[in-house]
Amino acid sequence: MSIEIKNLTKFYGQQKALDNVSFSVGSGTVVGFLGPNGAGKSTLMKIVTGLLAPTSGTVLVEGLDVAESITEIRRLIGYLPENNPLYLDMYVKEYLRHTVSLYGLPDAEKVVDKVIERTGLGPECKKKIGELSKGYKQRVGLSQAIIHDPRVLILDEPTTGLDPNQIVEIRNLIQELGREKTILLSTHIMQEVQAICHQMAILDHGVLVANGSPDQLSKTVGNNRRKVEVEFNLPVDEKMLLQIVNIVAVEKTGACTYVLESDSEADVRQDIFNFAVQHNFAVLAMQVKQKSMEDVFHELTKK
Ligand code: ADP
Repeated sequence: MSIEIKNLTKFYGQQKALDNVSFSVGSGTVVGFLGPNGAGKSTLMKIVTGLLAPTSGTVLVEGLDVAESITEIRRLIGYLPENNPLYLDMYVKEYLRHTVSLYGLPDAEKVVDKVIERTGLGPECKKKIGELSKGYKQRVGLSQAIIHDPRVLILDEPTTGLDPNQIVEIRNLIQELGREKTILLSTHIMQEVQAICHQMAILDHGVLVANGSPDQLSKTVGNNRRKVEVEFNLPVDEKMLLQIVNIVAVEKTGACTYVLESDSEADVRQDIFNFAVQHNFAVLAMQVKQKSMEDVFHELTKK
């Protein structure tokens, strides 16, 4: 395992931020770390990087105990903190050279050029950091995180505050880095998890409420209700729709469109079709609605 988190608990004074959290991450896995604000994501990430000590519990990174091997851990992990704090008055290259010197790496100039190429900073690398767009600032943040070629990357909300084009660019870059590194990233964007993560872990009030592949979670989480969206040729009385076998809830989503929820695993489309024939309605469209990552997230964190 690349990261093993065991029974992690963190109190800030009286406030419990993490409550006995355990999970592990295999090598080369990209994990999406989700949870409402205040769930404890940043706290957990800081503990994994060794910047914050837990109240109890242990974290192993590549088999090393973070509490005992902090120097080795710094070499193994790259960290992009939330809000990407950078020295805005420094030039891009100057800042990256400075980062290289902190790690005591040889051939500083070569290392800087390589990371600039890797993160696509080339066109902007002669500017001051303060003059860059948010997307390019994020590339600088990612550059400092990967400059020492760590095996594990911890990225705290790497796409927050970016515009849609910048999000796609940074996401592609993370996806590429994920081919060779273990990545733990926190995000509020569900599509991001679906697009780039092999595993997702959901925290709520400091408790780990789910952990698994996005597919596994959407299949196993919450209730077994299924939703079918139907478009009829005419508006239909919602009470009538509730008479269809197994239909327990109806939501009108358009002039003649309804989402019908069944409390059974069975396919209800045939019953809906029979209902329409019986009452002289035509079915113009019918589609089973897949449970989205948003649905999974809401079901797990709605308490
Ligand atoms: P998230 O990253 O999921 O938004 P955080 O880890 O930042 O959550 O915070 C978890 C909880 O711990 C929150 O209730 C937050 O207010 C509290 N917290 C975080 N940092 C501190 C701190 N330095 N001192 C006191 N409480 C903190």
